[in-house]
Amino acid sequence: MFFGKPLFFFISIQKGRKPVMKYFDAHIHFFPDNLAEKALTRLSQVCGCPYYTGGTREDTVKKLTAWGCEGGMAYHIATNQKQQSSVNLFASQSQEGNIYCFGSVFPGAENALEELHRMKELGLHGVKLHPDYQEFLVKEEAAMAIYEEGEKLGLPMAFHTGRDPYSPQLVHCHPKSLGEIADCFPKLTIIAAHMGGMELPQEAAEYLAGKKNVYFDTAFASHFLNPQQLEELIRLHGPERVLFATDCPWSTVPAEKELLEATGLSAAEKEAIACRNAEELFEIQI
Ligand SMILES: [Zn+2]
Repeated sequence: MFFGKPLFFFISIQKGRKPVMKYFDAHIHFFPDNLAEKALTRLSQVCGCPYYTGGTREDTVKKLTAWGCEGGMAYHIATNQKQQSSVNLFASQSQEGNIYCFGSVFPGAENALEELHRMKELGLHGVKLHPDYQEFLVKEEAAMAIYEEGEKLGLPMAFHTGRDPYSPQLVHCHPKSLGEIADCFPKLTIIAAHMGGMELPQEAAEYLAGKKNVYFDTAFASHFLNPQQLEELIRLHGPERVLFATDCPWSTVPAEKELLEATGLSAAEKEAIACRNAEELFEIQI
């Protein structure tokens, strides 16, 4: 009796309250402390974009928390053969709390396949490939060997897909090419970043949407899609295979969240995209 009343009130308040949707950012970037400022300045000049964190892990976590985001999947990129092992070591050391990481291999590196095994042993969650920065075309032979090994190891592969200001004349990962890779390696989980193609939503719809081994992420989408276009692409692909993401520091959680919330998707679909799909795919608890 003594506890009855307060408990009743507590339950009533809980029932009346709209549950707060959790957000997990499935595509973020940060750098080792001693390189962060230099990296951001250089990349910002290349892409002509402002940035919204100080580029370090610590500041990224601070910003994510302030934006009401539960955590993130950090993508790291080896831009040459020699960087592979240090990039992957940094990635593995950065995994703590709700920060998880993808490592990277450099296609064409003589030890790229061994490095994939090492990444698996280090507990990294997947492989990030940025064909523009790594200067390869996604259908190159050296890259094929990486997909094959990644498929065997069960390592998801995330691709920067579509246009990139670093290489404005040549799209290194076109949705059409990535679609062919998805068909060639049906057991490889592919994350086609930027909704299947930065600034190429029609091509993403035509060549990638609906493929069962492909996820799209919403990274940077607020810069090239409106809510209707985003919803259309999500419906075409399937909301169960879309991950909320920002591409932080190049965009922010509020900007990409606003875009997703402005779509006409149901609350359950939005929740799946905001965090549930990532939980299932990466086998993590958010
Ligand atoms: Zn990115």
